[in-house]
Amino acid sequence: MTASSQVKLQPGDTIGILGGGQLGRMLAMAAARLGFRCQVFSPDPDSPAFDVVLNATCAEYADVEALELFANDVDVVTYEFENVPAATAMVLAARRPVLPAQKILETTQDRLAEKDFVTRLGIGTADYADVSSAATLRAAINRIGLPAVIKTRRFGYDGKGQAIIREGDDPDQIWNDLGTKSAILEAFVPFEREISVIAARSANGDVECYDVTENEHRDHILKISRAPADIPEELAAQARSIAEKIANALDYVGVLAVEMFVVMENGGPQVLVNEIAPRVHNSGHWTLDGASISQFEQHIRAIAGWPLGKPVRHGPVTMTNLIGDDILGYEQWLTVPGATVHLYGKGPPRPGRKMGHVTEVLPREK
Ligand code: AMP
Repeated sequence: MTASSQVKLQPGDTIGILGGGQLGRMLAMAAARLGFRCQVFSPDPDSPAFDVVLNATCAEYADVEALELFANDVDVVTYEFENVPAATAMVLAARRPVLPAQKILETTQDRLAEKDFVTRLGIGTADYADVSSAATLRAAINRIGLPAVIKTRRFGYDGKGQAIIREGDDPDQIWNDLGTKSAILEAFVPFEREISVIAARSANGDVECYDVTENEHRDHILKISRAPADIPEELAAQARSIAEKIANALDYVGVLAVEMFVVMENGGPQVLVNEIAPRVHNSGHWTLDGASISQFEQHIRAIAGWPLGKPVRHGPVTMTNLIGDDILGYEQWLTVPGATVHLYGKGPPRPGRKMGHVTEVLPREK
């Protein structure tokens, strides 16, 4: 199929988006601003992204016929979530360029493959071990120590598929409760703060990183992001160069997020990589209102074969997620000076469901 370096879309061309959540919706809105059309593929008839595009395919990801018809309708395919089944990506990639490339999913869908990949690049992570039984869990605990975090290798998000193991816990019980055959054990990182870098890479290898973002989670779900992170510039530069190294090593085309921990080591702060998300990311939502070019537009530019923008941040920015019932209070945000409200058009709020977000930009000091 066409190599990513050969993709060069024109306004009026159609971008296919796999996944119909808020990320797909915001990608489609950014694409529309540049004159592209989008077609969204999602199995969920209530997909919020369906509301902002003319053409939608509502079908299962295993529906080969629907995938083929979808591929025929679009010029390039991208996705809003990393758990795109390999078979789905393969059917599409045989017909249209899929960006970011399918092989990247193999690394980022598996926490062990991802940690091995990051380690091979000489980038620090928490100590980790492959775990495939209660016996290997016990051996891993002996090597890594406690507390530690056990995570399923696949399909974990927002703290799902993971548990903290403390002194006195029963490894057999924990292994049974996790209900998987493949997991990793990670040393518990006593982090000082959590940060992320949103980076965009074009097919010709240009990379643009946004200012490092600082992230606060509640119940394992991102609640607040602030840009720039309150860290020394030297550390921020290190974080950005890690993201750039990862993007280059993956020969990545599009936007990716690298989540990191800041830890105090030998008296100085260091960053450890926690996770790579091969897609636009919640901690980059501030760029919609807080920067001249959003992460969504950067992604669309990259997969369209357009030059990346040179985003300028408008000032200190805070992004607050409206989670579950938070959405019921959306009106109170409408009149907050400097605030921009984004509602995702989802159905009823459920605990933990991301329903919208608010960005607040402080004016840049003169
Ligand atoms: P993850 O699904 O890997 O992104 O983890 C979700 C959240 O759990 C992270 O944002 C951290 O707050 C916490 N967490 C994950 N791994 C560790 C770790 N090894 N040590 C301490 N906290 C962790």
